[in-house]
Formats: sequence, C-alpha cells, structure tokens
Amino acid sequence: TRTRCSVIIVGAGISGIAAAKLLSENGVENVVLLEAADRIGGRIRKEEFGGATVETGAGWIAGVGGKEMNPVWEMARRSNLRTCFSDYTNARYNIYDSTGKIFPSGIAAETYNKAVQSAIEKLRNEECNIIADQTPSGPKSPIELAIDFILHDFEMAEVEPIPTYVDFGEMEFLVADERGYEHLLYEMAETFLFTSDGKILDSRLKLNKVVRELQHSRNGVTVKTEDGCIYEANYVILSVSIGVLQSQLISFSPPLPRWKTEAISNVNIMVYTKVFLKFPHAFWPCGPDKEFFIYAHERRGYYTFWQHMENAYPGSNILVVTLTNEESKRIEAQSDEETMREAMEVLRNMFGQDIPNAIDILVPRWWNNPFQRGSYSDYSIRVDRQLVNNIKEPIGRIFFTGEHTSEKFNGYVHGGYLSGIDTSKALLEEMRAEKERESENQYFL
Ligand code: FAD
Repeated sequence: TRTRCSVIIVGAGISGIAAAKLLSENGVENVVLLEAADRIGGRIRKEEFGGATVETGAGWIAGVGGKEMNPVWEMARRSNLRTCFSDYTNARYNIYDSTGKIFPSGIAAETYNKAVQSAIEKLRNEECNIIADQTPSGPKSPIELAIDFILHDFEMAEVEPIPTYVDFGEMEFLVADERGYEHLLYEMAETFLFTSDGKILDSRLKLNKVVRELQHSRNGVTVKTEDGCIYEANYVILSVSIGVLQSQLISFSPPLPRWKTEAISNVNIMVYTKVFLKFPHAFWPCGPDKEFFIYAHERRGYYTFWQHMENAYPGSNILVVTLTNEESKRIEAQSDEETMREAMEVLRNMFGQDIPNAIDILVPRWWNNPFQRGSYSDYSIRVDRQLVNNIKEPIGRIFFTGEHTSEKFNGYVHGGYLSGIDTSKALLEEMRAEKERESENQYFL
C-alpha cells in the first residue's frame, strides 16, 4: 500500500508528539506518525510492578522552582500528576561500606568536596588544554569510587552550571502517579488525535511500523517500513534516538553526507538502568532523608546508587538500584536471576544476612532495545555547539528532532519536548518559504 501525506513523523515519543501537535495547531493536519513499538511514549514508560506503577524510563521532572517554568512541570501541574520531591543531596550521608557501617558524615562530606574540587580543576585544565599531571590520581578507595560515581553519573550540577537547573530551578520531582509519566503524552495527543475511552483511535497514528528506509529527493520523501508499506510525504521529521541513528536500523538513499554521519557517531550514549526489587517487607531505614543510599564497593558503579520507594508509594516495599554504562550492559546480558543474586549479596553486606530475599525483579533493557539503543545522549559537560548543530541540521526534506538535538536540555524529557517544538517551527518556516518559491515560479511562467 502507498499512502501520501504532507509530513511523516517517525517515532511517537515526546518529541514526535510535540512536533505533531504544533503542526496541527498551525493547520498542517495531514500528518502520519509511524511508531515502531506497540505504544506511544518511547523512553517514557510505566510498568506495573509489585503492586505499584513504576517508571522504567524517565522518572523525574528535573528543573523545578527556578526563574522560568519548566514546560513539562507546567503540564504535570495542569493534569494533577502526582509527584514527590527528591532530595539527592542526602545520598552522600548514607554511604555504606561492605560491612554495613555508614561512613561518618565528616569523611563523606570531605571526600565529596575533594571530588568536586578535582572535577572543577580537571574541567579548567581541559579548557586550557593543560595536561595537569601524568600520575593517575583518580578515585581509588570504595568511598572515593562511590562518590565519583554519584558525582559524574548524577550530580554534575555541583561542578558546572547546567542549563536545566539554571533556567528552570534546582528541584527534582519523582513522578508517582498510576497514570504514569506517559499520561502527559496522552493528554498532548488528545488535543489533535481522535481518542475514545483513553485510547488513541486516530488512523494517523500507526503503531508497530518499523521504519527501515528513507528515500529522499528534491520532490519528497518515500518511507518504507519493515512490513512492506510505503508512505510518501513532502517532509519527514525523524525523532528516533541517537542510538538508533548510530545503529543503522534506518538506511538513507542517497546516503547521509559524511559530516552528518560523523556527527552522529561522535555523540556518546548513556545507558542508565533502574532495577526494581520487591520485598515482603521493608528492612531499610525509611524517612525522607534516607530515600537515597549508596554502597561503596571496590568496583566503580557496582550496585552503587539505591533508592527506596516508600516516599512515593508507602508500603510498596520496593527498592530501586541504578546502574549505568558498562554495568548496565553487563546486567542486560545476564539473566534476571543472576542480577537478583548479585543485588541480594550487596544488600546483605549493607543490612545483614537476615534480610528476606526479593520476591520479584524488573530489569529494563534500554541498551538491547533496537528502537532505543541506550538511554539518552551524553554530550560532554560543555556541549560542543557545532556538534549539536550538525546533529540537528536537516538533510533536504528530512528534519531531525529528539532530546539529542537539544543544545541546552539534551538527555531530559523537557529536552525532547522543546526539540519537537523547535523542529516543527523550523519545518513550518520551510513550508512557508517553499510555498513562496512556488508562487513566484508560477508568476514567471
Ligand atoms: P524517544 O522517547 O526515544 O522517542 C523516539 C521514538 O521513536 C520511540 O517511541 C521509538 O520506539 C521510535 N522509533 C525508534 N526507531 C524507530 C523506527 N525505525 N521506526 C519507527 N519508530 C522508531 N529525562 C528526564 O527528564 N528525567 C529523568 O528522570 C530521566 N530519566 C531517564 C531514565 C531512563 C532509564 C531513560 C531511558 C531516559 C531518561 N530520561 C529522563 C530521558 C528522557 O526519557 C528522554 O530524553 C526523552 O523521553 C526522549 O524523548 P524523544 O522523543 O527524544 O525520544
């Protein structure tokens, strides 16, 4: 079958939905959304686990309480999304060693401040191209490694101003709502797609459509999906993740220019995995200042960062441990039973041998998901503007969007949202210019 439309949007995550909504508000209704998965939302995804609704993808609305209102926070407030304030700063005062003792707060604070100072220095040296010292003086002891992990994988805001916190504020709120974070996407979709009983029934949204090929020319774009369907459009907005672009799931004909493929391959991908564990009862210290706790192991990032869900869902008896990058890839490749065994060993080191076994485990696999290939883009802490511009720059009639195209807010939900709006604005501008060119040509004919 062949379908002709004005704009095809590949991917129905927050950037794709935001892009489609803006087009629709500007009178471009003849849009088709092609989504590989059987649902909208992409990296915003809830799952029912152990009697609670947990977010396996984005969990927090980051950047709240500042001089400008984070648009995602605004949406959350409008739809009464239930959220809980998270205070990460406590984490460094709840660091356990392998015998279950908590490091004294003085030592923790001192190690933390040292790590911040050394990160600032390293950044300054990199800026001036100074190779400071040749002797490796990186973190070595378990507590230093644990703090290095929370600093670099979670809290760089203490080292360098990060636009999300500068613009929108330093607070973070965990989404704890049965409708899920993804409810915000459904509310957006509802404004321009036909829905009934909370379901999207509009034929312009096509699920289970894996895009494999984009043929583009001066006249339009032909999109081929895995199931043999062909869609034709004047323009395409491609919202797939940087990981998918790197994986070459989608081929381009003619191929993308070299500067584009180089830019795509130069972006680092962060893998970030929240493992959920359900217990028959809570054996960890509860209370708001105990929400986050750290395990100091001799291997960096080995089941380091823990969170209890009692603030979000009292009585849920759920713990979350976050792993990143190589540790994420490692546990994705092994069985969930093995991961549960490793996690239990760590918990027994912290809380003693008598604690009960977990009764259920949930291990999301963002790295092995062919429609994600990682969790989010990880530009270096000072974003290379040229690199993001090259990532974002359209190729003829193909426009690029998604969190990885946001210079200021990459890696965040609001980055995805704002990028979708930006890309649609640029496309609307191009459509207007094209119309003008056409009418000028007609005049001369
Ligand atoms: P996506 O949501 O990935 O949307 C792209 C869509 O394209 C997907 O639905 C995908 O299925 C589809 N697709 C891919 N390939 C194809 C194809 N070939 N054909 C058709 N469709 C295709 N952000 C925060 O602000 N706070 C957080 O706490 C936070 N935590 C996170 C934790 C995890 C584990 C992860 C994974 C992400 C987290 N993020 C967080 C980041 C945030 O989720 C993303 O930045 C945002 O959701 C990205 O939206 P997007 O529209 O750019 O991409």
